[in-house]
Amino acid sequence: MTKKDIKDFSIDGLKTLMEERGLKRYRAPQLLKWLYQAGVSSFEEMSNFKKELRTTFDADFYIGQLKILKKQVSSDGCEKFLLELADGTSVESVIIPDDGRNTLCLSTQVGCKMGCHFCLTAKQGFTRDLTIGEILNQVLIAKNDIAPERLTNIVFMGMGEPLLNLENLIAVIDILKDDNAFGMSSRRITVSTCGMAPQLIELCERTDVAVAVSLNATDDETRSKIMPVNKRFPIHELLDACRNLPLKKRARITFEYVLIGGVNDSLDNAKKLAKLLTGMKCKVNLIPFNAHHELKFKAPTKEAVKEFQTHLLENNYTAILRASRGNDISAACGQLKGLS
Ligand code: SAH
Repeated sequence: MTKKDIKDFSIDGLKTLMEERGLKRYRAPQLLKWLYQAGVSSFEEMSNFKKELRTTFDADFYIGQLKILKKQVSSDGCEKFLLELADGTSVESVIIPDDGRNTLCLSTQVGCKMGCHFCLTAKQGFTRDLTIGEILNQVLIAKNDIAPERLTNIVFMGMGEPLLNLENLIAVIDILKDDNAFGMSSRRITVSTCGMAPQLIELCERTDVAVAVSLNATDDETRSKIMPVNKRFPIHELLDACRNLPLKKRARITFEYVLIGGVNDSLDNAKKLAKLLTGMKCKVNLIPFNAHHELKFKAPTKEAVKEFQTHLLENNYTAILRASRGNDISAACGQLKGLS
């Protein structure tokens, strides 16, 4: 039998695994503590398990780790990690410090299959989903880097479309929230999607994390041109799903809107956006397009951004302009890429 990574088990999976070894299911938290709080790299270190048990664990499982191939620090304090996976592929994750908070931006896939034309990750194509352990190891590396208590927020906005790796994503969220592991509040965890409507509904039925939807256009023609997913889930279908999400009482959806010069950044677009979102409990994050020589689009002008934001504000929307972060080390939105 080939050994399995013990970090690839969900909380329920770990409970079953304990049971199969003649132990009580409630001892699974002890495993979680060793793996995610102590961050051990061998079963030998799990001193409250009998020697015999540690030996059988060791025979059946290994404790997966990621290798840091490169760490870059931006002039604005962002840190980007290039991480090697066991099969030689790689992903990136970014720590973004801001106003006393430290947000970790996680990757969920090697590459991406959504093909958004303004995104560099899409250019690299899709290789595979990340496992539960590979996603959680990004968190362990970040915690180790900045001290555990300083990691305040998690966003699933790195490489890949998180909702296409839904089962692993939900297992990861459960472990992030569990007090025996990372103990994070669900308010501090945000999943961002390009608009996979059915999976978004399922995510909100099964977890209570915050959600962000990359809208990026106000009519189907434009959106389909820059985001192929729109052909499957056009704007009205996506927004209908958003309106009916089973969210907690005060929860608001975040709509991300990448402003691309001459494509979706006119005052007319701002007016259409304000109309589209009427009556929705939401806020809008405006992200000026991050240019890259491999991408054919251009950044919006400062004036266009200002005018766009002002229109939303005047119509009583919360509209936050996202300062581009980590640009000098290609760590900004849509710039993450493994080795290819
Ligand atoms: N697949 C998910 C999460 C990854 S992308 C999603 O689509 O939401 C995270 C955010 O970066 C998205 O809002 C996306 O629209 C934005 N983005 C992608 N490329 C960008 C670029 N070149 N400049 C600015 N934002 C970009």
